[in-house]
Amino acid sequence: MITESVQELVKIERIGAHSHIRGLGVDPETLEPLETRQTAPDNEKYERYGLVGQYRARRAAAVVCRMVQEGKLAGRGVLLAGQPGTGKTALATAMAQQLGPETPFTKLTGSEVYSLEISKTECLIQACRRSIGVRIREETDVIEGEVVELEVDRDAQQNQVGRIVLKTTDMETVYELGRRMTEELLRRRVRPGDVISIDKGSGRVTKLGRSFARSREFDTAGEDTRFVACPEGEVQKRRQVEHIVSLHDIDVINSRQQGFLALFTGDTGEIKPEVREQIDARVAQWCEEGKAEIVPGVLFIDEVHMLDIECFAFLSGVLESQFAPLLVCASNRGVTRIRGTEFCAPHGVPVDLLDRMLIIPMYPYDEPECHEILRIRSEEEDIVLSRPALALLAKIAVETSLRYAMYLMTTTAVLCGQRRGSQVEIDDVKRAYLLFMDTRRSTQYLLAHADDYMMSEVDGQAEEPA
Ligand code: ATP
Repeated sequence: MITESVQELVKIERIGAHSHIRGLGVDPETLEPLETRQTAPDNEKYERYGLVGQYRARRAAAVVCRMVQEGKLAGRGVLLAGQPGTGKTALATAMAQQLGPETPFTKLTGSEVYSLEISKTECLIQACRRSIGVRIREETDVIEGEVVELEVDRDAQQNQVGRIVLKTTDMETVYELGRRMTEELLRRRVRPGDVISIDKGSGRVTKLGRSFARSREFDTAGEDTRFVACPEGEVQKRRQVEHIVSLHDIDVINSRQQGFLALFTGDTGEIKPEVREQIDARVAQWCEEGKAEIVPGVLFIDEVHMLDIECFAFLSGVLESQFAPLLVCASNRGVTRIRGTEFCAPHGVPVDLLDRMLIIPMYPYDEPECHEILRIRSEEEDIVLSRPALALLAKIAVETSLRYAMYLMTTTAVLCGQRRGSQVEIDDVKRAYLLFMDTRRSTQYLLAHADDYMMSEVDGQAEEPA
């Protein structure tokens, strides 16, 4: 007898810090921010947007998104400035969602620039070029029809020569097939009765369905399709195909031996400036010929104060270049030293770059707002909180920080699970609060016990080395 032991599979779902954010939550017409609980005309709650408060910042971000969509903001910068936990990254995430999947959006953290195997500027160039899309339009001729007969000459297997009879609108046309096309049709398991479309350029075959009469695609030509008469009298469609690729993807494909595979391995390395120049010239030419269109996207740099003066100088240049994305930065610093210099500047960003940016301030949340964010977050994390527990967490968020309260909430769920409770109660919150310190309590403890710690530096007085 064979016994099989099957181990239980445990599904672990990771919930990202911003997974509850679904969009900016603004009225699509007026760009006015909506209340989270407001009800939309279709009776769906706007709650799904997930963003709470920060009305002015959300409105400003919505205006920026509108300008990006209208192609008016490329080559400019926006700085989201506010204290830690005021939702700068959440707002940037919402902006990306607002812009939709078509608009390229790249996220980079200031410190990432130093941890890669490529130079700082190369890292920034790649991030900028990832944020610029090129919409390439191609015209392709297709033949569509119902397969009446399909014959493959089995004796000529090597050449796989075939013959297909296609019935287009009101006539049947016989096509002699070469090896490649015969293989394609066999691979797609095309049979008589199928309605198929053959792309004349690439030889790609698509099955549209069974039966000529039932195939809607066959009868209805999309807006991008026009019929053209062709010499044999068959009906062909000329279809416009669009793809969006980023400038970086084009760079990679053209600069590596393994071509597009480098996109998957991530082994892009440094790309030669000559390659980029050639690509820029080619893309500019396509745009002039109407074959392509630039889709400026967004480059979001979180913790922008972590960049140094060389990076800032480089970014100023990028903003003035031919293909520039919208630069959205975030910083939680006040007036601080610009990395790589002895000088201080607001947000740690040199004033000449700052001058090219629109600054969107973000303010700390009040208790009802913290309450609402924590409530949305608890739903996202599937944590059932009693009303008093949620109220206490909101109070803790105001007195310590929103992030601390969020982390505490997750730990209360574990404590609740341990006592097999059905919902988190106020005592779980109290217990978690005693188990895990927030920054203020931790600092107070350290100050009170400074002498017990090694190399403790109080008020800037470092211990002298022995
Ligand atoms: P830091 O300066 O420390 O990087 P930050 O300003 O980028 O902080 P976030 O990371 O965006 O802050 O916010 C902290 C947490 O609070 C995240 O989980 C975020 O999704 C959530 N959050 C912040 N603001 C809002 C909001 N207005 N609505 C919903 N969730 C929010």
